[in-house]
Amino acid sequence: MIYNFESENSDYREFIDLLSVEALDYEVIRKDNIVVRIFGQVDANLGQRLDKVSKSPGKLILKKKPELSDVLPGWNRGKKLIIAGPCSVESRQQMRETARFLSELGISYLRGGAFKPRTNSSSFQGLGPGGLKMMAEVASEFNMQVVTEVMDRIQLEEVDRYADVIQVGSRNMFNYSLLTALGAVAKPVLLKRGMAATIDEWIQASEYIRKGGNESVILCERGIRTFEPRTRFTLDILAVPLARKLCGLPVIVDVSHPAGDRDLVPTLIKAGLAAGADGIMVEVHPHPDQALSDGKQSLSFEQFRSIYHEVERMGLIETSASPKQPVDIE
Ligand code: PEP
Ligand code: MN
Repeated sequence: MIYNFESENSDYREFIDLLSVEALDYEVIRKDNIVVRIFGQVDANLGQRLDKVSKSPGKLILKKKPELSDVLPGWNRGKKLIIAGPCSVESRQQMRETARFLSELGISYLRGGAFKPRTNSSSFQGLGPGGLKMMAEVASEFNMQVVTEVMDRIQLEEVDRYADVIQVGSRNMFNYSLLTALGAVAKPVLLKRGMAATIDEWIQASEYIRKGGNESVILCERGIRTFEPRTRFTLDILAVPLARKLCGLPVIVDVSHPAGDRDLVPTLIKAGLAAGADGIMVEVHPHPDQALSDGKQSLSFEQFRSIYHEVERMGLIETSASPKQPVDIE
């Protein structure tokens, strides 16, 4: 939240006193006027008191249209984000083989779940904290960034320690206490769309994170439930331009979970990128048929290499790098 003051008047001093009493973390930016930026979650009650003392309601900081380069440190403007890797972290060897393959293609974001939200409680639930650490070690060996899911607030500290981008899965898009906690974390959040969530509900979920002070949110369309049983989910392709237009956040497409079948994945990669997505997330496994989760929809290295070169030839993953511009508040 940000609050504006014309000068260091009595309202301003009373306001700063209140922030100290409430032990809120904040910074003061002096421009033409004085901007006080509060980090962390401000609940409704405290928000009302702050509004009253400042005499003008606080504003949620919304950058007009954050680019991926605003959200991901060091990212080149105009470059599509490719996040690839297995559904689950299974072993060091599996992660090393995958990381080597992907980094040779120039891909720098490695995915893999250590905490897995499985529909069936008897299915593989992930390696947990040991898997996280292993993934982070492998990523660092190959100079890659870690994208991994947090399922619950109690895992957040651990996931934050190892992840470069924290993924919120489809089943947790409505987990408002988790979203609120992510508002106080200094890492980009990849927010998947709930499989039965409207575009507006998805955007509102992103606001829980942003209101807490974490504006680095990337939306991920991953397919919704419809009456069609032939595919695992139905990729809502128009959610890509619509979500971007409605809230300005970068939007990527998970091409694996809607397909459910690896033969359908290349079509979704082309469709997602052609629809203007800022990137894609795709499941790739060294031995898809032996994968402990989502093997049917995971691409082999050969399949991935072939579609990757195809979209490169089609000009869908342009890499026109331009230097990162400093971003001003508002
Ligand atoms: C995943 O990315 O492996 C995953 C579980 O995805 P979703 O939350 O979209 O089902
Ligand atoms: Mn999966």
